[in-house]
Amino acid sequence: IKRNPGEVEFHQAVKEVLDSLEPVLVQRPEYERAGILERIIEPERQILFRVPWVDDQGKVQVNRGFRVQFNSAIGPYKGGIRFHPSVYIGIIKFLGFEQIFKNSLTGLPIGGGKGGSDFDPKGKSDGEVMRFCQSFMNELYRYIGADTDVPAGDIGVGGREVGYMYGQYKKLTGLYEGVLTGKGLTYGGSLARTEATGYGLVYIMEEALQTKGRSFEGATVVISGSGNVAIYATEKAQQLGAKVVALSDSNGFVYDKDGIKLATVKRLKEVERKRIREYVKEHPEAEYHEGCQGIWTIPCDIALPCATQNELNGEAAKTLVKNGTFAVGEGANMPSTPEATGVFLASKIIYVPAKAANAGGVACSALEMSQNSMRYSWTFEEVDAKLKNIMSGIYNNINATAKEFGMEGNLVAGANIAGFLKVADAMMAQGVV
Ligand code: NDP
Repeated sequence: IKRNPGEVEFHQAVKEVLDSLEPVLVQRPEYERAGILERIIEPERQILFRVPWVDDQGKVQVNRGFRVQFNSAIGPYKGGIRFHPSVYIGIIKFLGFEQIFKNSLTGLPIGGGKGGSDFDPKGKSDGEVMRFCQSFMNELYRYIGADTDVPAGDIGVGGREVGYMYGQYKKLTGLYEGVLTGKGLTYGGSLARTEATGYGLVYIMEEALQTKGRSFEGATVVISGSGNVAIYATEKAQQLGAKVVALSDSNGFVYDKDGIKLATVKRLKEVERKRIREYVKEHPEAEYHEGCQGIWTIPCDIALPCATQNELNGEAAKTLVKNGTFAVGEGANMPSTPEATGVFLASKIIYVPAKAANAGGVACSALEMSQNSMRYSWTFEEVDAKLKNIMSGIYNNINATAKEFGMEGNLVAGANIAGFLKVADAMMAQGVV
């Protein structure tokens, strides 16, 4: 805390992992001698840079750019780029730190990294977004590459932004390589990448539900957010027979007791880039409520927080438990506050933490890297089948690890420990570097 003052989200993420690792350090004292913990919480490299760009009025704007290359023990740095006004180093470091363990859980050879900017894409024209992305890449291109560091999307960065950044990287380096994932299908993107995080979340939850004789079939589901993860989690949950009754954005939430009409949401959010409140104009039978916290008071069987960090607090967690919710799966990164996590772990709820539950996105990104290296594309069905396998593998791994370390059912500990062991062993094998 003294070394990284003010980086509250980073402290929160580190504390959760270190708490889980206590039984591991008892069994494996060699990690302590090798300084694995001290090394793993210190990024290998942090890059901060100026991003100047010209707005539509001809005025120069300046934002701050970040890329944190956290850990390359098991593969090239891999992790998304976030554009949101709240971005500062503490958020990028928490995301990069979690990414190390998540990427390890996928079983694929990818290290941990994350980047972003305090740029706010909301309300900006396509031209402004393009000029910003080009300026961002004018600095970032020096530090990334298909075999060194491969960024992707995150909040505020989707296909449009990845496209602009990819074009600028190619212009600057002359290389047509898989340096970014989440690319469009006409220039190296992978089928099923857009869907992967949301679909993966539902696949792993279905796996977890089955162990308790439950499923999405007939379940009432509340999903926060209405971005990439929320939309495709809704789609897969609906395909499996669930009724998704609510979605949100940072202004408020919609409640449609008959089930969300996803085609409307996709058009509003993906094409027209509008607010979720517009939904009720087309579906007057639904309700819109200002503020995002109220979404957790809607009675549901399964809750999937898919918006942002710390969006679900202790009170909200208690309400979900009281309302009889039987499963919570984290599509967003660290959406539950430490108090909420405590409530879920003390309850009988099936609680699948973000590092495992949303790993489908980065797993599919790693599959995009494989396809780019092979100069080949798999079909949607092939990628989707691999994604399903990976999610099921993650569930079995974290469940077995929790059991092995005497914490049966605690999937937070299972994910942290299983993710850590592979990286720690690779760091041990590679010496003090
Ligand atoms: P999008 O930008 O597509 O959507 C984000 C959604 O969350 C929007 O509805 C947004 O509303 C809402 N949101 C963002 N910030 C806040 C806030 N401070 N309070 C309330 N709502 C907020 O992002 P993604 O769907 O890609 O990402 C959502 C989460 O999933 C993030 O935590 C991300 O790190 C995580 N994730 C994403 C992956 C991916 O592949 N995309 C992979 C793994 C994790 P608004 O429009 O009002 O801002």
